[in-house]
Amino acid sequence: MSHLSLYRKFRPDTFDKMVRQEHVVRILRNQIEGGSVGHAYLFTGPRGTGKTTVARIFARAVNCENTQNGSPCGVCPTCRALAEGSLDITEIDAASNNGVNEMRDLREKVQYPPVTGRYKVYIVDEVHMLTDSAFNALLKTLEEPPAHAIFILATTEPQKIPATILSRCMRLDFKLIPEEDLEKHLKSILAEIGKPYEEEAVAAIARAGAGSDRDMLSIAEACIVYSEKLTYEAVCAVLGAADFHETARLVSDMLTADMPAAISACEKILAEGKSVGVLAKDILQLLSRVAVAKTCKNAERLLALPADLFREVKAIADRADGRAILRATEIFIKTENELRFVSTPRISLEAAIMRVSYPEADGDTDALLVRIKRLEERIGELERRPSAPVCAPAQPQPESAEPEPQPNAAAPQPQEPEVPFPEEEPVFAEAYFSDGPISPQEPPAAQRTERKAEERRETQPPAPPAPAAPPPAAEASEKRLPPTMSAEQAFGTFLRTLRKKYNNGMLFTMCADLLASFEGGKLVLVTESDTIFTILGRADNVRLMKEIFTEIGVGDYEVRKKGQTVNARSALEELRNNFKDYPIDVK
Ligand SMILES: [Zn+2]
Repeated sequence: MSHLSLYRKFRPDTFDKMVRQEHVVRILRNQIEGGSVGHAYLFTGPRGTGKTTVARIFARAVNCENTQNGSPCGVCPTCRALAEGSLDITEIDAASNNGVNEMRDLREKVQYPPVTGRYKVYIVDEVHMLTDSAFNALLKTLEEPPAHAIFILATTEPQKIPATILSRCMRLDFKLIPEEDLEKHLKSILAEIGKPYEEEAVAAIARAGAGSDRDMLSIAEACIVYSEKLTYEAVCAVLGAADFHETARLVSDMLTADMPAAISACEKILAEGKSVGVLAKDILQLLSRVAVAKTCKNAERLLALPADLFREVKAIADRADGRAILRATEIFIKTENELRFVSTPRISLEAAIMRVSYPEADGDTDALLVRIKRLEERIGELERRPSAPVCAPAQPQPESAEPEPQPNAAAPQPQEPEVPFPEEEPVFAEAYFSDGPISPQEPPAAQRTERKAEERRETQPPAPPAPAAPPPAAEASEKRLPPTMSAEQAFGTFLRTLRKKYNNGMLFTMCADLLASFEGGKLVLVTESDTIFTILGRADNVRLMKEIFTEIGVGDYEVRKKGQTVNARSALEELRNNFKDYPIDVK
């Protein structure tokens, strides 16, 4: 027994059975019933939308002696003769017959009258594949067609058809078929063959069909033989989609900026044998579902996922920021496109995951907005917390810069995070973005204590500095110029001014991760990144930073690379300037 594919087995043989394309069907039906058919048609539209099917129905209908509502009756002698195969209906696949000979042959044979019906119909599929000379031969026929000839040219790429041909055809555009209609069609077929199914499975197959009835039915066919009942799991397995929950975890980690977790989730899925391309597609599809769940009230119906899967998608959507979802989707659209051109797709995929889960690495506006949003959320959290500290805890200090004097100088400093990218916003962000006014007159309690300690020290003469040792120099100068506000607060004011008044996103991003501390009256900003250090050293940035610092009352500042020691000579100069009454000698 020969196997007949679903698509061929259930190919509509009347206009009534067509899935959508009613605008095309209506025109053709009216022409047939009115007895005024044209000589040349161009059917355009995506593959699998019914162009050839409609062409065949039309070819039989124009010959039928007793059409039913514009469709062939199927019982009259002509219909029966045509069903058995007749020379009157000729199908040419231009994709395999792109030679000029076929068209010359056609031109010759078209002159003979039809054998069974009134018309000879030529259906040329994929007509855009014809060569130039073949098009010319076809054109000759179209220019002076015999009264009994009808040409139906079908193509997915109408822009490749010469204008001389286009102008002689009646053009009918076929549209992609909505998922709802594909579902309905598939369900009717499943009912007919007696296959039990899950609603979600049908929805998933319809979605995978992407508007093409033929594509959907060929996917359905593979799924049907996979298991007794047509289940969602079976569809996922056939489509090669990665396990939903694992992909969901990966996407969730990405959107909540947990990069290490996201990367290891990716590793795990790839280790199970999924290809990079399939995983990228899965991520993209899930992101689009998360976006729907985030924005649409009727998301549950639109997504048509099994209940537990929908809950998972909804939970991700609730946790994530809309802009972060959009940004992630854009990054993955680009990545999915690029995957086929790169020699190391896996690295591209991982880079995309990193970019999504670490917007700090990106200087573009979208990344910036995602970061601001996250900072705003953190501020909200802090404001809700009853005993939120006004000032950020002491910062990890670079080796070269001494910490602000504290009663217990031996107190251990917080360690630098070991991972190159912190999993959360740096702690100091809390201080930078607190919107409360910075009041030098009323420093917080913690700071008042610090200042008392500083004042006490000021009454004592400074200890003679160790020769050529920069850190004591910095410490000494600090005693003379106690800061009226903490370094974090001063730098926070700078960042706010930069963001609100100057709106310089690029510079804002570059500055956002700097560690600020005071060395005397000088605000020292430390970065670990060579790139940031170089960019901040550019003349335009230096000028702008200087301008803002002057504006907010910070007289002196310096950007330093982490680990870079203070220039001993300049430190000594400064020391001598600050303590003019004391002879300072370096031995
Ligand atoms: Zn008939």
